[in-house]
Amino acid sequence: MATVETVQGPVDADELGTVCIHEHVLFRDEAVAANWPTRYDPDHLFSEAVSAVNATKEHGVATIVEPTAMFGGRDVGFLKRVADETGTKLVACTGIYTYDYLPHYFQNRSEDVIAEHFVEDIEKGIEGTDAKAGFLKCAADQPGVTENVEKVHRAVARASLQTGAPIMAHSAPSANTGPRQVEIFLDEGVAPEKIQIAHCGDTNDVGYIEGLLDKGVWVALDRYGLDMFQPWAERQKTAAALIERGHANRIFMSADFCATIDWFPEEAVEGLLSGGLIDEDWSMTLVFERAVPELREQGVFDDDTFQQVFVENPRAWLTA
Ligand SMILES: [Zn+2]
Repeated sequence: MATVETVQGPVDADELGTVCIHEHVLFRDEAVAANWPTRYDPDHLFSEAVSAVNATKEHGVATIVEPTAMFGGRDVGFLKRVADETGTKLVACTGIYTYDYLPHYFQNRSEDVIAEHFVEDIEKGIEGTDAKAGFLKCAADQPGVTENVEKVHRAVARASLQTGAPIMAHSAPSANTGPRQVEIFLDEGVAPEKIQIAHCGDTNDVGYIEGLLDKGVWVALDRYGLDMFQPWAERQKTAAALIERGHANRIFMSADFCATIDWFPEEAVEGLLSGGLIDEDWSMTLVFERAVPELREQGVFDDDTFQQVFVENPRAWLTA
């Protein structure tokens, strides 16, 4: 029986149940948080995380894949507290979330040395705890696959080869990053079934997405509610097209919700919501409350599709 590492320890893959593939219980800049801790209210961060996770339980969710890496304020102690409080299994990651910048520490070290850091999180435990990372994370965005981004991708690939851990790569379809990201992983020798390209739903170009699927990787339609990157109706059209074309066994659906995020001052967040850039119902449950029911009404989604997309696909990727 394959097992998957959660912050509460390894679980049998069959116990993962219904899975949210991409939701954040906390997202903040760890350097700001370390230097100005009083700018954050720990009780507020915790209660927002707990209520977001608890809401998913009403939809039968048993496991949340939590892809917060370095520069997103990954905090395994916080994840453990949320998991203990809610009873939900949380799968943590290792990796670096950067669109280009690397600290001198990693700038002046090789891909192999960077990979050693990731391997430590996967084999020994994260941040000095015995909670192990269940997957690897990296990112490419508007700057494209820069030299630094490629370095992180190669380090992630090498850590995957050493440990068997799967990879989730944040991508930016509008900057055409996906094909190059996949190319780097395959060039390093990673099996395509271990590779998940996140944020593919940010394009309505089904041909672009099928180009990735042709390589054998997973694609994620995981930003429902982030209308600034792609309007709701377009996301749904893409989802329906992919399912109708027989790709339900290779896709994920999620919202990339952040229970809290420190990127914007409060008044700016209000502007994003009132300006229609973020759906006012953006949450960890939005996919279950609106996306799936709409697709069911259109006749392209049924119970088997649900089982495939939210149970079997996550289990297959996490144990690939
Ligand atoms: Zn994310």
